[in-house]
Amino acid sequence: MDTIDRGLSEEQRIARASCRAFVDEVITPFIRQNWQREWLMDPDARLPPAILEGADRIGIRTLGVPEEFGGTELDPATEVQTFAIIAEEIARGDSGLADKLVQNWKVSVLLRKFAARHLQERWFPRLVGDPGFLLAHCLTEPRGASDRWLPYNVPEAAMHTRAVRDGDAWVINGRKQFISNGYDAGLLVVYANTDPKVGMLQGTSSFLVPRDTPGLTVARCNETLGCRFMNNGELVFEDCRVPVDHLLAEGEALGSAGIYFRPGKIIQAAKNLGVGMAAFERTAEYVQTYVQGGRILIKHQAVALRLADMATRLAAVRALLGSAARAVDEGGADADQLCNMVKVFASEEVFKVAQHAMELHGGNGVMLDFGIEKLFRDAAIFLHMDATVDISRFKIVKSMFPATAGAYAGPEG
Ligand SMILES: Cc1cc2nc3c(=O)[nH]c(=O)nc-3n(C[C@H](O)[C@H](O)[C@H](O)COP(=O)(O)OP(=O)(O)OC[C@H]3O[C@@H](n4cnc5c(N)ncnc54)[C@H](O)[C@@H]3O)c2cc1C
Repeated sequence: MDTIDRGLSEEQRIARASCRAFVDEVITPFIRQNWQREWLMDPDARLPPAILEGADRIGIRTLGVPEEFGGTELDPATEVQTFAIIAEEIARGDSGLADKLVQNWKVSVLLRKFAARHLQERWFPRLVGDPGFLLAHCLTEPRGASDRWLPYNVPEAAMHTRAVRDGDAWVINGRKQFISNGYDAGLLVVYANTDPKVGMLQGTSSFLVPRDTPGLTVARCNETLGCRFMNNGELVFEDCRVPVDHLLAEGEALGSAGIYFRPGKIIQAAKNLGVGMAAFERTAEYVQTYVQGGRILIKHQAVALRLADMATRLAAVRALLGSAARAVDEGGADADQLCNMVKVFASEEVFKVAQHAMELHGGNGVMLDFGIEKLFRDAAIFLHMDATVDISRFKIVKSMFPATAGAYAGPEG
C-alpha cells in the first residue's frame, strides 16, 4: 500500500526517501537475519552500534536539536508533521529502534525551550557528537503514572519523588520506572515534587540529571514484550544533587511538559502506524504468494476481506494522524484532544491490524524466526505507552468538558 505524496513538501519527500532506503537496505535485512538478537539478555549487546551510526549518517538521530549545535533542524511550520513521517518510516523497520531515536527528538524539543543556554551549549554538542548518546524523560513512578493525567490536582496524588533545595543544589530522592532509554541514556529529564502542600500541577518541577551524577543508579533494564531494541529502565535517586541551574521548570513542570507530549503523542501514533504498515506489507506479499487449497491465499474471499480491513484501519489512522499533526504545528486549540485521540485510536487499530497479520500467516504467524509475531508484540506495547487506553480516553473527555469530566470526583470541600 504505497503512501500517496499528497501535500508533502520537498523536505519531507527527501527525508522520507532517505529513511525508507535506510530501513529497506539496513534495518529490515538486519532484523530478518538476526531475529534472535532482540532476546539477548545483555541489553548492551542487543543493538550493534553500527545501527545508530547509520541513523546518525542520514541525520535522523538529532532532529529537534538546533542547527547552531549541529542538529538537523526541520521547517518549524511543519516540524511535527515531518517528525511523524520519519518516525513512521523507522518503525516500519523496527519499532524499538524508533523508540530509541525519537526520545532524542522529543527531549531536544523540551531542552531547546527550557534548558539554560550554557546547558544547551554543553549537552547538544555531546548528543550530536556521539551516535550512541541517548536522552530520557522520567515521569512514571511505582505508585503513579495514570493518576498524573486525571483531574486529581490534589496533594495526595502528587509525585513521590521529591526534590528539596539545599544551598546551590536540588537534592532528589525517589524512583522512576518504565523509562524509555532509562537503561542507557546519558542525560535525563526528571520530574519531582517540590511543594507537597499544593496540587501536582503547581508542585511538580523538572530537572536535568546527567547520567554520572552521584546518587543516580540504574536499578535494572526491563525485559519487555516488544520494542526490545529500546532499553527501558528503572532509576533510583538517593540524595542525588544537581546544581540549581539544572532546574528546567519550577512548580508548573507538568503543564510545561505539553511541549514534549504534544509532538510525543504524534510521534507515538506515527511509530504505531509504521508497525501497522510493516504488518500490512508483509501480509499483502504473503497472501499473494502462499498457496493453500490450490490457490494463492488472497483468492479465498475471507482472506481478501481481512486484507481490506487492515488497509482501511491504516488509512483511518493516517488521516487522523495528519489532522492531529497539523493541529500541533499550527498551535490549534484542538491539538491536545486530537493528540490523545490519535494516540489511542492508533494503538487499538494497529493492534487489530497486527492480529489480522498474524492470523493470515497461520502457523508461520507465531514462529519467532518468521518475524510476524514480532509486529504483534511491538503493536501491543503501544496500548501502554504515553498513558493507557482508558486514561487517554479520560484525557480526551476531560479536555472537552473541563467543568464536569475535568473536575476532581472526590469529596467536595
Ligand atoms: C515500553 C514503555 C515505555 C515507557 N516509557 C516511559 C517514559 O519514557 N517515561 C515515563 O515517564 N513513562 C514511560 N512509560 C510508562 C507509561 O507512561 C505508563 O506505563 C502508563 O502511563 C501507565 O501507567 P502504569 O504502568 O503505572 O499503569 P497503572 O497506572 O498502574 O494502570 C493500571 C491499569 O489501571 C488503570 N487505571 C489506573 N488508574 C486509574 C484511574 N484512576 N481510573 C481508571 N483507570 C485507572 C489503567 O488504565 C490501567 O489499565 C513507558 C511504558 C512502557 C510500557
